[in-house]
Amino acid sequence: MSTDCLFCKIIAGDIPSEQVYHDEHVVVFKDINPKAQVHLLIVPREHIISLNHLDAKHDDLMTYCMHLLPKIAKEQGLEDGFRTVINTGAGGGQIVFHLHIHLLGGEGLSGAGFSRAI
Ligand code: 5GP
Ligand code: ZN
Repeated sequence: MSTDCLFCKIIAGDIPSEQVYHDEHVVVFKDINPKAQVHLLIVPREHIISLNHLDAKHDDLMTYCMHLLPKIAKEQGLEDGFRTVINTGAGGGQIVFHLHIHLLGGEGLSGAGFSRAI
């Protein structure tokens, strides 16, 4: 928990969010500024700043997140597929410095482009 972190405050319930899933490891909520019909953020409860701050003790957590993604996508009706994005550091477009995975799908998702939309 970092007291000046937006996502820590959302996880703690101090700032409202539209949660779609939560368990002891992660919280999943809707992005406030969706870039596609489905745009969720998978956020580990632990305050990890970014991929640059991972170490081996996070291996199980990251594997857990990878396995969770297709389950959440299916629940959201994304049978056809989905996109995941992790912005890392200011140079990677990261705005909120609490590690999170964007899960996008449905209408509004552009083909196979990698343009900076998220
Ligand atoms: P980043 O660029 O750090 O990967 O993405 C941060 C994401 O958090 C952005 O897509 C932005 O729309 C979303 N976001 C920023 N503030 C809030 C908020 O208060 N609530 C929610 N639900 N999403 C937010
Ligand atoms: Zn945090």
